[in-house]
Amino acid sequence: MSECLFCRIVAKEIPATVVYEDDAILAFKDIFPQAPVHLLIIPKVHCVGLCDMTPEIATAVGRVPEVAIRLAREAGVVESGWRLLTNCGPDSGQSVFHLHFHLLGGKSLGGKLCQ
Ligand code: 5GP
Ligand code: ZN
Repeated sequence: MSECLFCRIVAKEIPATVVYEDDAILAFKDIFPQAPVHLLIIPKVHCVGLCDMTPEIATAVGRVPEVAIRLAREAGVVESGWRLLTNCGPDSGQSVFHLHFHLLGGKSLGGKLCQ
């Protein structure tokens, strides 16, 4: 059994509210949402962060924007605006070490990415 939280979500060992799934990508609701819309989009194959991508994972990650656009549209935030971001390494505050992209929207997210 993997010790990685998101690998365990991929393996359906830990429940999550899945909003999108294909052979290489999974998207689900963040358990501690920071906005009315807060989804996590991940490659199914484990990798710690952007700097650790294999070519296979990079191919999957290359499709994240199109998946994000689809999910933003389904969540009704395309017109109001939304944000897609990933945290990478200690200074970013990354807390789960399986590459993931936050899709945030549904409120004004503020104009700054860091304080
Ligand atoms: P990071 O801080 O690494 O960029 O983001 C990790 C995200 O994973 C956080 O927003 C956190 O709320 C979310 N998270 C942590 N544990 C779980 C969990 O068990 N299930 C889900 N769905 N999200 C989680
Ligand atoms: Zn993992």
